[in-house]
Amino acid sequence: MQRPVVTTLLADATAAAVAVLDLAFPRHCAGCGRTVDRPQGHLCWECFRTIEWRGTAVCQRCGLLIEARVTHAFDCHACQEHPPAFDRARSAGRFAGVLREMLHQFKYGGATWLCADLAELLHGCVLAHFAAAEVDMVVPVPLHTQKQRERGYNQAALLAAALARRLQRPCVADVLARTRATPTQTHLHANQRRQNVRQAFAVRSPAWVRGRTALVIDDVMTTGATISEVSANLKRAGAWRVWAATVARG
Ligand SMILES: [Zn+2]
Ligand SMILES: [Zn+2]
Repeated sequence: MQRPVVTTLLADATAAAVAVLDLAFPRHCAGCGRTVDRPQGHLCWECFRTIEWRGTAVCQRCGLLIEARVTHAFDCHACQEHPPAFDRARSAGRFAGVLREMLHQFKYGGATWLCADLAELLHGCVLAHFAAAEVDMVVPVPLHTQKQRERGYNQAALLAAALARRLQRPCVADVLARTRATPTQTHLHANQRRQNVRQAFAVRSPAWVRGRTALVIDDVMTTGATISEVSANLKRAGAWRVWAATVARG
């Protein structure tokens, strides 16, 4: 079917505006540094193709990728040992290669312009794995105020806000508070991570949460200890269902 003339003109005008902007301010790929050949974003086709997407052979609970053919729903070993407080967690891609590089720039390098690219990946993940229409609120994993002051922003909150706009759902960033600054988790094992984040969060306004479906957002999920602790708080405050989505899975 032919598109109406007005939308065609508008699309042409937008494409022309992008082309002009690209001439003045070329967009460089966050992966390889070359000029981006896609109409939007900061990732060239070649780098985009290298992202390792998460398949369907995953733990039904935490989304852990299973290196085997599976024909039935199952929980991974970690989820059986310590059932997480969230109902389901999924990630867009593997925390490796260009995705790892982008997330690193986004989180530690002040590259907040990558937010739209990352939110787009997150959006695809949410549409693929969750009933997006049933999400009542999008909730970012909070950062401790001290850390946020140092970094200038909470990367999870930026992602959550951008995703919420795409889903047309409210982003409720201040429903949770980080009550305790926790040491970095990078070198900790699963058990230590669970200890590390215990009682690190508090729900500010349980009335917002009660009976609702919350979608918790973070940039990366590793063992899921942080997201599980956040989810436990939301559940204790009366959340009916807690889902979680991250851009990447470590
Ligand atoms: Zn590239
Ligand atoms: Zn699992």
